[in-house]
Amino acid sequence: MTRSIGTRVAIVVALPTLLLALLLAAVALQSEARTATLWLLALSIPVIAATIAWAAVRVMLGRELARVGSALREAAAGNRSLRLPESTGVTAPLTRAFNELQDRIEKSFSRAHDALEFQAMHDALTGLPNRTLLMDRLAQAIRTAQRGRHSLALMLADLDHFKEINDTLGHPVGDAVLQQAAERMRHVVRDSDTVARLGGDEFAFLLPTANDAQARRIAIKLLRAFEAPFVVDGHSLTVGASIGISVFPQHGADGSTLLRRADVAMYEAKRGHRGQALYEREYDLHSARQLAFRNELRTAIAGNQLLLCFQPVLDLASNEVSGVEALVRWRHPRRGVLYPDDFIPLAERTGLIRDLTLWVISSAVEHCHAWSSLGLELRVAVNLSAHNLHDAELPRIVDRILAGDGRERSSAPVKLRFEITETAVMPGPSQAFEVLNRLSAQGVRISIDDFGTGYSSLAYLKRLPVDELKIDRSFVTSMVHDSDDAVIVRSTIDLAHNIGLRVVAEGVEDEATRELLAAMHCDAVQGYHIGRPMEARELVTWLRERQG
Ligand code: C2E
Ligand code: CA
Ligand code: CA
Repeated sequence: MTRSIGTRVAIVVALPTLLLALLLAAVALQSEARTATLWLLALSIPVIAATIAWAAVRVMLGRELARVGSALREAAAGNRSLRLPESTGVTAPLTRAFNELQDRIEKSFSRAHDALEFQAMHDALTGLPNRTLLMDRLAQAIRTAQRGRHSLALMLADLDHFKEINDTLGHPVGDAVLQQAAERMRHVVRDSDTVARLGGDEFAFLLPTANDAQARRIAIKLLRAFEAPFVVDGHSLTVGASIGISVFPQHGADGSTLLRRADVAMYEAKRGHRGQALYEREYDLHSARQLAFRNELRTAIAGNQLLLCFQPVLDLASNEVSGVEALVRWRHPRRGVLYPDDFIPLAERTGLIRDLTLWVISSAVEHCHAWSSLGLELRVAVNLSAHNLHDAELPRIVDRILAGDGRERSSAPVKLRFEITETAVMPGPSQAFEVLNRLSAQGVRISIDDFGTGYSSLAYLKRLPVDELKIDRSFVTSMVHDSDDAVIVRSTIDLAHNIGLRVVAEGVEDEATRELLAAMHCDAVQGYHIGRPMEARELVTWLRERQG
């Protein structure tokens, strides 16, 4: 141990003082010289001693402090392992404090390091491992499976209708659904399995020792875990899932192949509404076809393969056709006529829905002008997708289309209506509100389509610039025989009237339904019994024949 500063000072000061005292004593013994001088000398001893002591302390303390100082500089430069040797002198508290500080820095540094590492490997919203960590564990699991000659399964799960919820109820609700979904998934698998969030509503499961049969069983358990609705902010939301499974080694020898094939299987499960699917080679061909299909749709919109049919809407009070609904068809060069359900979902997934909708609006407006010049004044309704309501440009473009791009129009202004589903305008998305309000201010009317199939209430819809409600055909078609459906239709009509909305019943397939609806004071009806969707020219003939 180093000698303390006090000891050193004592030595340094004591020695010269002792020498001086001895010198004085010798002088005093030899002569009886002037006592006063001696006293003066004697008095000066402590002064000299103190000066010497001060100088010594300064030098030694300076050295100690310099040692601590250079240690601090080194620590500041990033040396977290540096510790000072313990001293017992006056700088002891300082060295102790320095060492404690270093300990603390070391600890919080390693905590921060751990947190950063966790962040880099996990998803912030759900706390689940992310893609990076999954791929890491997958590679490791493949090596273990190779050595142990066993299989492993990778599953990809994608939530159904999640995008709809996110777009319509807003991101906080979407986030809460994802968190609850993650929790349910964690409960289904074992601790040795990995559940990861790959992004958006896509999750992956690594089952390090499972074969295809075991993976399927877990997939079924997972689907069951999604049967109960998710409750968020008072909304009860049904969120299904589609699961794709790929198995090592039969479906791929490396992580990225397994992931890609699980993805292909997942799309197959979604497409066929099957819940879960195990990868098969022919699915790959199918996904290639999807890609080709998308390109074909792009060509169809740009070229003239799309066509509009119009279905009449009959006013019950006046028995007049007050308007028509435009329904799009695709005259596919090889496959014949395709119906919206075959290609609208694809258009929505690929962003082609914007161009498709603009084509439908322009074409519907064109037809309206043509009918107008024949003396037929009809309001034309166009269906919008939720995506269209998030397009801030839509009102401006609609305005341009209605203005006929500056061309002279002799006919009356077109009466346009948009049909939107209730889920497309659920609480939350202010963008959709803004778009609807601007359209409404431009004189475009808005209907709620397929009413009864979504989650919203009439009280909520009242806050939208909506003047019409279309009761979904699933309640109408069987209302004559199904008293529950009849009750739903009757109370919907009454409630809608109470808040000033006009009601259209869709899917009227026979006279009995039409009569029942008239008795319930429904405002208008639409359905095969009134008229099927027809091409524009056919519609004109049909209307003329009706007028007799
Ligand atoms: P929707 O808006 O509910 O349109 C009514 C659908 O019901 C049409 O099917 C129509 O043919 C059918 N329908 C009419 N009367 C009856 C009836 O009495 N009984 C039965 N069972 N069905 C009837 P379609 O044309 O196949 O359209 C299906 C859906 O595709 C439409 O449902 C609409 O949501 C969507 N859709 C159609 N055209 C467009 C479009 O231009 N853009 C967008 N975004 N969606 C469209
Ligand atoms: Ca519609
Ligand atoms: Ca409808």
